[in-house]
Amino acid sequence: MSSHRSDDSTTNDNTENSLPSPNRRSPVWEYYEPKLIDEDGVLKAVCKYCGSKMTAGRKIGTTSLRNHIAEYCSKIPSEVRKKFVATMKKPIEGPFVFDSQKSRELMITWCIRVKVPFNKFDDESFEPWMESMQPTFSSIGRQTIRNDCVSMFERMKRALHSELQTINSRICFTSDLWTSNQKLGYICVTAHYIDTDFVLKKKIIAFKDVKYPHTSVAIEEALTKCLMDYGIKEKNLHHNT
Ligand SMILES: [Zn+2]
Repeated sequence: MSSHRSDDSTTNDNTENSLPSPNRRSPVWEYYEPKLIDEDGVLKAVCKYCGSKMTAGRKIGTTSLRNHIAEYCSKIPSEVRKKFVATMKKPIEGPFVFDSQKSRELMITWCIRVKVPFNKFDDESFEPWMESMQPTFSSIGRQTIRNDCVSMFERMKRALHSELQTINSRICFTSDLWTSNQKLGYICVTAHYIDTDFVLKKKIIAFKDVKYPHTSVAIEEALTKCLMDYGIKEKNLHHNT
């Protein structure tokens, strides 16, 4: 009887050892049973707390295992969960120093990229949110946000201006013209060029209104003004002749 049991356990051990062992470098494995199980040919990791079986294996990665422990496991004690979430955060190099200038820049970048209307920054819930993260963050109103956006635009425009001045390649342009529902005409001019690293670039260099009526003369005038603005009129004409 006792020898039979020892045989059984030996067989079990062998079966488990023959399964590929997961990459144990990730701290998430502390929260799962040491051995993976094979369920219909699919390797699964078993949560130590709730017993959930999560698909695992070398090619799958540990994202779903991490998410389960960090967010979804219903049985894990909250203290253990907090400890795990803390280990997932990137270690900070040296003491953290709040750089309000950098923070403002990043906020403006986000605001422009996701097209946040300026008045959203005047919402009464915005300041408490910012203060909860950084008490020294001074409140920013929509006027300041607007000014920051404009100065970022001017900085980027100056950078593009000097890039267009220094490149050796010919610059090509495409333009689009349309009329708004208030009968205002707009022109959008895009420059296409190859930069010094031989990368094809496409930049909008103007988005402005055009005098009505939109005759070829009006369009030519708008286009010329835009090329003069960037100091590339000569350059372009020179290359085209
Ligand atoms: Zn669980």
